[in-house]
Amino acid sequence: MSTIVQKYGGSSVSTIEKIKKVADCVIEKRKQNHKVVVVVSAMGDTTDDLISMARHISDHPDKRELDALLSTGEMVSSSLLAMAIIEKGFQAVSYNAFQIKLKTDGTYGKSLIKEIDTGLIEKSLNEGKIVVVAGFQGISYEGDLTTLGRGGSDTTAVALAVKLDGICEIYTDVDGIYSVDPRLYSDAKKLDKISYEEMLELSSLGAQVMHSRSVELGQKYSIPIYVGLSCSDIKGTYIMEVNDMESKPITGIAVSDDDIAITIKDVKYDINLLSLIFETIAERKINVDMISQTSPINGFVNISFTIPKNDKDECIDVLKGFGYNSLAVDENITKFSVVGIGMKTTSGVAARLFKIFSNNKIEVKMITTSEIRITCAINNDEKLKAVQLIAKEFNL
Ligand code: ADP
Ligand code: ASP
Ligand code: MG
Repeated sequence: MSTIVQKYGGSSVSTIEKIKKVADCVIEKRKQNHKVVVVVSAMGDTTDDLISMARHISDHPDKRELDALLSTGEMVSSSLLAMAIIEKGFQAVSYNAFQIKLKTDGTYGKSLIKEIDTGLIEKSLNEGKIVVVAGFQGISYEGDLTTLGRGGSDTTAVALAVKLDGICEIYTDVDGIYSVDPRLYSDAKKLDKISYEEMLELSSLGAQVMHSRSVELGQKYSIPIYVGLSCSDIKGTYIMEVNDMESKPITGIAVSDDDIAITIKDVKYDINLLSLIFETIAERKINVDMISQTSPINGFVNISFTIPKNDKDECIDVLKGFGYNSLAVDENITKFSVVGIGMKTTSGVAARLFKIFSNNKIEVKMITTSEIRITCAINNDEKLKAVQLIAKEFNL
């Protein structure tokens, strides 16, 4: 009897009718004699609505209280799903983070899971119950509710699959992973499988289909993650170890509008100072991504870097602490990334990319690369054009 951990995203449980449908789907699995754990997101746009309510109270809601508020969404959907399963004559029980002692590092809004006590879940599974778990939430060692970051229910599911040595299935509103978000490029091709490495890059760079931490966990514990359309037999995509090197240099494109670029002008050309600035930003748990620095003129440089939009005020606060009061903030950037393990063995990918950009007058503001990706910060209003052009060029 294998254990299956299924995760249903917000759109799959957005109405009572859909919750009843998900109940039917998980009951089918239970009937096949599997032990079934179901992780749910909040119904539809609940999390957005809760954030909006908080913002009507404060531009900067208290982080502890915001997490306490946001975690209510998953409590509603998990108990409703358990109720729906019971109503259909099967045994079910819902658990929240407190009950399964899902402990986190305590960072509000972007917690990492530290441990889960699966004793209660296993006991319920052994009693024949379908276990429904509220995704996205955890508790700090101080006993506060904390959340795992937007899209974090995926990570709850993968973490549980790891702990329970189960199969992991992520069900959503799209029938697999595509080379490009099908909402941005309707000709995008569906992938049968994608390597952890590539999916991790894509999801960290804006492909919201998977929470990047979930892919990281899958890779760390070698758990294949299946991604497919809710309650459907259409074949989806496996995120897994992929050894056969694709001939294609690029597997996918990701774009993100979630970042801003900050430029600090006239910084003393001193590596100790640079190190201190970035150390202080890191202490506030602000993720810096792209960084560029001009050549020194009279012992001074300009430094630009990107950070998540949400961290703007906190980052400006840190920089003001260093005495930098006139900062240039560019809110109009899109991070455009191409990703592919084929890049390891193919040369000239960057040249092809820049040629298309130059032929079409798309200016690049910053660039970062890894062995399997190239990321360019471009103007937000050129995003769609860039996606179409590059997807066509690389047959994605
Ligand atoms: P859920 O609520 O089920 O977690 P999400 O909205 O988080 O769903 O993720 C699904 C969405 O991810 C899809 O509707 C799709 O538009 C988007 N997406 C972004 N990039 C990709 C991609 N490469 N392949 C498939 N879907 C993608
Ligand atoms: N409900 C949370 C969100 O909207 C978590 C999730 O859906 O995975 O981000
Ligand atoms: Mg999601």
